[in-house]
Amino acid sequence: MAPFKLVCFDVDGTLIDNLTFSWEVFHNHFGCDANKREQARNKFFSGAITYLEWANHDIGMWIEKGVTKKDFQDAIKGLKLMEGAVETIHALKKAGLKLAIISGSVDIILETLLPDYKKLFDDVFFSHLTFDGQGRLTGADVTEFDMIKKADALRAIIRREGYSLKECVHIGDYLNDVEIAKIAGLSIAFNCSDETLRKTATVVVEGKDLRNVLPYILK
Ligand SMILES: [Mg+2]
Repeated sequence: MAPFKLVCFDVDGTLIDNLTFSWEVFHNHFGCDANKREQARNKFFSGAITYLEWANHDIGMWIEKGVTKKDFQDAIKGLKLMEGAVETIHALKKAGLKLAIISGSVDIILETLLPDYKKLFDDVFFSHLTFDGQGRLTGADVTEFDMIKKADALRAIIRREGYSLKECVHIGDYLNDVEIAKIAGLSIAFNCSDETLRKTATVVVEGKDLRNVLPYILK
């Protein structure tokens, strides 16, 4: 029997290929001011503003541009599900494991590329965009569980379910996965370009076929 009860997935670069930060894809597609973006980013990383303030600042730039749901869908046309993602999700579910998404990504990406994600995942932590009747962006319900707070989302799930951290797996690709990788019983750096995460994770899985994580989880 598998020693694990829960598998947490990152989205950008883990479930979705050709992507490091989804927010960057939208900023670039919408032509948002690079200086303003950089200033807000630096303020967050220096601790001057919170993650929510940073996110709301950036969403404000999109609202100012008057972007629509269709613009978001156009922006992600070059993205695709990671190879083997669907098979991996189904294999884990078949083994009786609970699945969670803990990501700083925005809902429209999985909504478009994996429309039944709400049925597949028991917990979903990411940001939800809101649109008006004409499809224009009006705001967002922003997740605060990105960066170091991804670990807090995992802690909240295990408290509710009565799991131990040892029974949890995390799969991610980038520096915002480092803190959660530190506490998960098994952390897998997948499609990983970040040196800190490679060093922190229990195992590093090379390549872009998500099915290659399965032997580590379903022992
Ligand atoms: Mg990622």
